[in-house]
Amino acid sequence: MSIYPPEPFRIKMVEPVRLISRAEREAALRAAGYNLFALNAEDVFIDLLTDSGTGAMSQEQWAGMMRGDESYAGARSYQRLSRVVRDVFGFDLFVPTHQGRAAENILANLLIKPGMKVPSNMHFDTTEGNIRARGGLPVNLVIDEAYDPQNRHPFKGNMDIAKLTAFIEQTGVENIPFGSITVTNNAGGGQPVSMENLRAVADTYHRYNIPFFIDCCRFAENAYFIKTREPGYAAKSTREIAREMFDLADGTWMSAKKDAIVNIGGLLAVRDPQLFQQICNQLILREGFISYGGLAGRDLEALAIGLEEGLDEDYLAYRLGQTAYLANRLLEGGIGVIEPPGGHAVYVDAGRLLPHIPPAEFPGQALSAALYLEGGIRSVEIGSVMFAHPDPESGKMVHPRLELVRLAIPRRTYTQSHMDFVVETFYKIKENKDALRGFRFTYAPELLRHFTCRFEPV
Ligand SMILES: *Cc1c(COP(=O)(O)O)cnc(C)c1O
Repeated sequence: MSIYPPEPFRIKMVEPVRLISRAEREAALRAAGYNLFALNAEDVFIDLLTDSGTGAMSQEQWAGMMRGDESYAGARSYQRLSRVVRDVFGFDLFVPTHQGRAAENILANLLIKPGMKVPSNMHFDTTEGNIRARGGLPVNLVIDEAYDPQNRHPFKGNMDIAKLTAFIEQTGVENIPFGSITVTNNAGGGQPVSMENLRAVADTYHRYNIPFFIDCCRFAENAYFIKTREPGYAAKSTREIAREMFDLADGTWMSAKKDAIVNIGGLLAVRDPQLFQQICNQLILREGFISYGGLAGRDLEALAIGLEEGLDEDYLAYRLGQTAYLANRLLEGGIGVIEPPGGHAVYVDAGRLLPHIPPAEFPGQALSAALYLEGGIRSVEIGSVMFAHPDPESGKMVHPRLELVRLAIPRRTYTQSHMDFVVETFYKIKENKDALRGFRFTYAPELLRHFTCRFEPV
């Protein structure tokens, strides 16, 4: 039996949501070119498109918004955020950015030259896009277990150290501007990385003098997984564990829209003063002055508070328990998901549910469309729509190893009955799954195409 942990909060303000009729959903989906990103949010009943910027802020964060200091330079809210960043991450040098990809853009612009390669466990789509936009090549070196949806390895976000060492030897240090790792591994199922692995990754990069960056937007969820799954960490606080993670790194960037539970924000922190100077110059050119980086003072205040709340262990137990509940109820109904459940989302194995739809016709897209038609639920495809690309040498299409649909769970936003409705919708779809058809593109841009592409049914 799946257990739903009671929320460690109660509701003080509500936002109405509405399930529009089936005919209205059909019309809305057609008008959106079958791309769920193009739907009006008002036409969505339960929005599991992303956990990014969709969380509910706390009373403390809203109170902080009122206290935000809007001074252009050196604002009080910036000082507060600096203290929290120093305390939680252990970095003295950091800049706020408007979101994670702004930090990625600055880093890629400064460090990547055409032809260079950047290793990670798995890069997320915006990271990939920013590396490719500078002529670089993102390389994914996650352990093989990550590609087996049923393998219940406790840390499927881990990097394969043998693959990493071989990669560095073959590529040459001069062609690797920095090494990274994503915690938790979003593109691979929101799976955590163990402290043991983080230490081995850091050692490997440092042995070759390669700077080590953590893409850390779900660092608190990762820290809680370490606490509950890794021997030796049960008695440590998530805060101590987070600090131990960041002590291994030379830099980190964060989309604060995830574990800092704010609706907008990000940051980029480094230890190298020279690199920091260059970052500041880029920031001023693209984002804003060093002490606000494209955010309002009130956003900095909410971010500082959210970073601490995101580390609260009662909250994290509920948060990861909610995700596990949804995953386990789907499994009980014979719907394959990436196991064990990850942190921020449940990743449904669309390839396995719809074997009659080939990767070139986007089984994940077919399942996403069905979820909307059946229950007004918005999800996101993480499969060939997002990641298939022509091989640079042969020109042949390379498809990702898994065709997934991600049900991302906004933080502190939906209740158990919302999750139960999602489960029942899946059960209905499964009964008629053989009738689902694939899709083909009618429009697709070259980079980050999933955001704006359009489809027609095959
Ligand atoms: C969300 C995300 C990003 C990008 O952050 P944005 O705030 O959306 O720009 C980068 N990496 C990972 C792993 C993410 O999940």
